[in-house]
Amino acid sequence: MKLPILIHPDPRLKKVSTPVDDLSDTLRTLANDMFETMYDAPGIGLAAPQVGVLQRLIVLDCVKGEDEAPRPIAMFNPEVIAASDEKNIYDEGCLSIPEQYAEVERPAEVTVRWMDIEGAEQEETFDGLWATCVQHEIDHLEGKLFIDYLKPLKRQLITRKMVKLKRELARG
Ligand SMILES: [Zn+2]
Repeated sequence: MKLPILIHPDPRLKKVSTPVDDLSDTLRTLANDMFETMYDAPGIGLAAPQVGVLQRLIVLDCVKGEDEAPRPIAMFNPEVIAASDEKNIYDEGCLSIPEQYAEVERPAEVTVRWMDIEGAEQEETFDGLWATCVQHEIDHLEGKLFIDYLKPLKRQLITRKMVKLKRELARG
């Protein structure tokens, strides 16, 4: 089932999400619904708070080429356990901040530990777009958005555009 995505500004996008203790069927269904919502958008990552659920769950698939097999990964309680000194700059966007993009600098390589959808612990080192995406999604679990890395003026400009967009959407 496709879920509605919250648009910034929304107080739920600023909250710290709580860890997942037990993998319930409800959470597995949520992960599947989040994949459906993300692919439909289309996007390469989605965090549970973006669909109004304040639990530490993110989904991502940064495979871009059409001839490449998709690689959907659901991460419960993801944690960056190591980050490279080397940085990378990407033009980031966010499904909660539609059609706005800005350059953000982050570690080029990160090692992430998480619990998978079967409840098993996983660990992997990501680079390139995957590294940026996984850090962006984990930030959502801390109530942090990519625009929080920008200068205040630029951030306010984007926020004002989103307020306007939400007003238009509410009017229908
Ligand atoms: Zn985002």
